[in-house]
Amino acid sequence: MNRNERTDHGPGDSAAPTANGTTAVPPTTATTGTVTGTGRRALLRAVVGGTAVVGAGLALGGGAVAAPARGRGLLTERPGSPAAALKELAEGNQRWRRMRQEHPHESEEIRQVLVSGQNPFAVVLGCIDSRVPPELVFDQGLGDLMTVRSAGEVLDSSVIGSVAYGVLELDIPLILVLGHQSCGAVAAAVEAEESGEELPGHLQYVVEQIFPSIDHSQHGDARVDATVTAHALNVRRQLAAEPDLAERIADGRLAVVAARYELADQRVHRIS
Ligand SMILES: [Zn+2]
Repeated sequence: MNRNERTDHGPGDSAAPTANGTTAVPPTTATTGTVTGTGRRALLRAVVGGTAVVGAGLALGGGAVAAPARGRGLLTERPGSPAAALKELAEGNQRWRRMRQEHPHESEEIRQVLVSGQNPFAVVLGCIDSRVPPELVFDQGLGDLMTVRSAGEVLDSSVIGSVAYGVLELDIPLILVLGHQSCGAVAAAVEAEESGEELPGHLQYVVEQIFPSIDHSQHGDARVDATVTAHALNVRRQLAAEPDLAERIADGRLAVVAARYELADQRVHRIS
């Protein structure tokens, strides 16, 4: 795994409206291997996309969001705060839902810029389900998202370490835990718990991680659906309790948010 470089998000990158939220920043060749905070932050901002950052709270897809991003050009400012990152995701999901995807950041130029480093603005922890690829449902491209996926977005040390890498090493301001409608892993957990049958191999581990989230107040499909929500909230809670992450949450540098993707209408909506 490369320890890539990125520049710091200074005060001007906060959610406060800025007049030059799309100011172009030329790429700088990074010196890899530098691990000091200063060195890490002093170099490349392989920045692409993102529109002017305006205060948007932490709403995500729960209702109307701002008009779809426009003018997402090369080498422009990127979301540097939790609120700005959520806004970018909400706008991307709205483009996806409306079949107005921009497919950003796939060009030859971007591919070359990203050789020198990366500057993703969000970690998305989602399920392995083939119907919920984060880059597609948020209409993002190369270098935009750090995605971590496991069945039922179940946590283990490797998953937590991967999420923490993005936050601690790349200063990513947002972790989005993304559950989804009709999650097979959650359905398997509900079934396994009800039947008492053990699943083969490591599948048992996966469902056991979901067991504590099972909503016994519901039955049948409603139980699965309620557990999808409860499980995403539990995963969010566990991540937010990680000491390294909690410290950043406390001082506003990081938000950990739980959300659901609905297969039926392709909407991502916040549940925490
Ligand atoms: Zn799933």
